[in-house]
Amino acid sequence: MPATTLLTGISELVTNEPATVAGHDPGGAGAIGAEVTGADRLGLVADAAVLIDGTRIGWVGPAGQAPAADRRIDLGGRAVLPGFVDSHSHLVFAGDRAAEFAARMTGQAYAAGGIRTTVAATRAATDAMLRANLDRLRREALASGTTTIECKSGYGLTVADEARSVRLAAELTEEVTYLGAHVVPAEYADDPAGYVDLVCGEMLTACAPHARWIDVFCERGAFDPDATRQILRAGVGAGLVPRLHANQLGPGPGVQIAVEFGAASADHCTHLSDADVAALADSGTVATLLPGAEFSTRSPYPDARRLLAAGATVALATDCNPGSSYTTSMPLCIALAVREMRMSPAEAVWSATAGGAAALRRTDVGALNSGSRADLIVLDAPSYLHLAYRPGVALVRQAYRDGVETNKAATSSLTAS
Ligand SMILES: [Zn+2]
Repeated sequence: MPATTLLTGISELVTNEPATVAGHDPGGAGAIGAEVTGADRLGLVADAAVLIDGTRIGWVGPAGQAPAADRRIDLGGRAVLPGFVDSHSHLVFAGDRAAEFAARMTGQAYAAGGIRTTVAATRAATDAMLRANLDRLRREALASGTTTIECKSGYGLTVADEARSVRLAAELTEEVTYLGAHVVPAEYADDPAGYVDLVCGEMLTACAPHARWIDVFCERGAFDPDATRQILRAGVGAGLVPRLHANQLGPGPGVQIAVEFGAASADHCTHLSDADVAALADSGTVATLLPGAEFSTRSPYPDARRLLAAGATVALATDCNPGSSYTTSMPLCIALAVREMRMSPAEAVWSATAGGAAALRRTDVGALNSGSRADLIVLDAPSYLHLAYRPGVALVRQAYRDGVETNKAATSSLTAS
């Protein structure tokens, strides 16, 4: 590819950078309408152009002001957005749980213990099988516009199997989360404290070199508050940054512990007290909502409006996993957030891009401005609105990652840099 490529013919550009867009006037005409829809957060530019300079964005703005470039590509009146940032997924696993899903759809409740089914299949799988499954899911995610993905361990639950999981995840992404504390494995059913010691000790030592984050499934049936704190403390001591599965299945202390530890994100946030909402709003901890989980378990959705009204930063992610949310599709999550959680289309798109970046404490992705990574998607539609307006339709025509164009047939890696 030439050193610089100018994308033109962009009907609508989502930058997520209102302040940097030339001519933007936050207090000017249209601001009241923008406040109602949240569109002011998206830094929209009509009839726009984007300059890709190697792996980075060199310039964004109105097409009429575009700089010269080595090559020009006319996108023919399509919308361009930052690539989706999926800040919560569990992709290192084997097997599926389609039968469990079918049973749940005919009336069975979801319980955390279902994780153990996948643990048995994952332990029995070869590295090659796990790698092939990861690669399949990575391609699937990229085809629907995900250019940054976080990936957790948590289906190994032995020192060797967790270390293998984070090592394989690190082949996929730099956003690797050690989740040895996903569930207490069957062999420790009579000694959960012994398992927590393992997670904080030998398992952590084996996993920390391959991970950036530490996570705990803080939930009834998984890990209680004392164990959660013990594990997070150990992870921080090993140089990992906390994020937490919190308040998914019922009210509980997860969100408060996440805020107490300065976690980057509290994920799920389905059952929150007023104090939980206030704690999130007053902290740097992002509330990551995972509507694919509620959809796939036929459960009540989190109250996104309550979080947004309080001023919390909200991210959307897939929670892709074989038990409770087997989707890699951020467009599906956007559509669910709009239809089922009453987020505006603009709020949902912001949360799926800039919100996800905030949940991963990243400033180089989730927005399109001069200097950010050239991670962007082209929709087969004139506006970002179509992501929620046309649910279930494969609207992502192309993705650029690090300035390299991909498409559904392409094989370039999510780890390429
Ligand atoms: Zn999860």
